[in-house]
Amino acid sequence: MTDCIFCKINAILTPTEFIYKDEEMSAFYDISPKAPVHFMIIPKLHIESMDALTEQHINLIGKMMLKASTLAKEHGLKGYKVKINTGVEGGQEVFHLHIHVLGRSYK
Ligand code: AMP
Ligand code: ZN
Repeated sequence: MTDCIFCKINAILTPTEFIYKDEEMSAFYDISPKAPVHFMIIPKLHIESMDALTEQHINLIGKMMLKASTLAKEHGLKGYKVKINTGVEGGQEVFHLHIHVLGRSYK
């Protein structure tokens, strides 16, 4: 867990570097954007991937999905893609659960 880049981001980013942060999750821009607007939402808790989710995380993942929608609207996205790469075969590179939000702003 100490080697996890997203745990480190949760610990060291300054408040202004986050798009959003509360006691359960945070959101920040992807360092290598694949769309004009590309940010991700991660839990504070180190959860390796979608496949590590259990019933105890249902409330958390629900809140994260709602936050994806709220932040997409705040960014002026009329439509967007939500992506959770899962496992090496699913293209996952960072093994701390994250929800990608990708779209084009009309602001
Ligand atoms: P995935 O392939 O779904 O695991 O996505 C990992 C994402 O994390 C990639 O899109 C990277 O560009 C992004 N990423 C890696 N390191 C950082 C970082 N320090 N800050 C922001 N995004 C990062
Ligand atoms: Zn982590």
